[in-house]
Amino acid sequence: PSAVVARNVSKIYGSGDAEVPALREVDVAFARGAFTAIMGPSGSGKSTLMHCLAGLDTVTSGSVTLGDSEITSLGDRALTLLRRERVGFVFQSFNLLPTLTAEQNILLPLRLAGRDPDRSWFDHVVGIVGLADRLGHLPSQLSGGQQQRVACARALVSRPDVIFADEPTGNLDSRSGAEVLAFLRTSVRELGQTIVMVTHDPVAASYADRVIFLRDGRFVAEHRDPTPESVL
Ligand code: ADP
Ligand code: ADP
Repeated sequence: PSAVVARNVSKIYGSGDAEVPALREVDVAFARGAFTAIMGPSGSGKSTLMHCLAGLDTVTSGSVTLGDSEITSLGDRALTLLRRERVGFVFQSFNLLPTLTAEQNILLPLRLAGRDPDRSWFDHVVGIVGLADRLGHLPSQLSGGQQQRVACARALVSRPDVIFADEPTGNLDSRSGAEVLAFLRTSVRELGQTIVMVTHDPVAASYADRVIFLRDGRFVAEHRDPTPESVL
């Protein structure tokens, strides 16, 4: 079963002479419980595809199905709800609130959604991510790698159907990046989390189960069980 499916998705920015085709008839499915990386040169459509899959951007034609919802037919309000309840995000910039502690940041999406945190699940996620002794710290008191692990825990704690990660290691040194990727990997293996990650880094992509390649807005190739060398 697929967590997310894009069928014949095209995306054109602008109009008339200023038209920019960003995605061209992309057909791709992302399996539940799998960790997939999206690679390709700058401008090949990686971010656009991720934004269309996550309901952050609309498609020009084609359809996107997330779980059992065809999100391309949803209105803004339903889409906002779906993103809040069923999707987790991890960005290059960690996007933590500076005045909240690590724990408060992790719990914020649940609080905003008016849901009660499941304490044992919270403890489990925090344990896996290795932040148990940092929960009272502010983001400014944490390293970049720790801040990104807080952001990953925040994405995981509401048990989303899919986590979308956009260059999650882009602002990290290789050691901190490896910690974040190891955590994402563990969340796939131990928690069955589905992850879709955009990256241009072959080492980051090698943590995934599968890598898909875009070029000029087209899905041109894929690779199972990648190594850093095989996706160069
Ligand atoms: P990547 O993430 O692979 O670098 P993008 O998805 O950001 O690629 O961009 C794909 C193409 O769409 C590029 O030609 C880019 O310039 C264009 N593009 C992206 N966002 C916009 C936008 N908001 N308006 C116009 N063109 C855009
Ligand atoms: P950058 O690559 O410029 O550092 P990010 O990786 O933080 O940017 O974000 C990538 C894209 O996601 C940007 O187009 C940004 O507008 C969008 N974005 C960032 N944070 C959020 C958010 N909290 N909710 C929705 N979209 C976001």
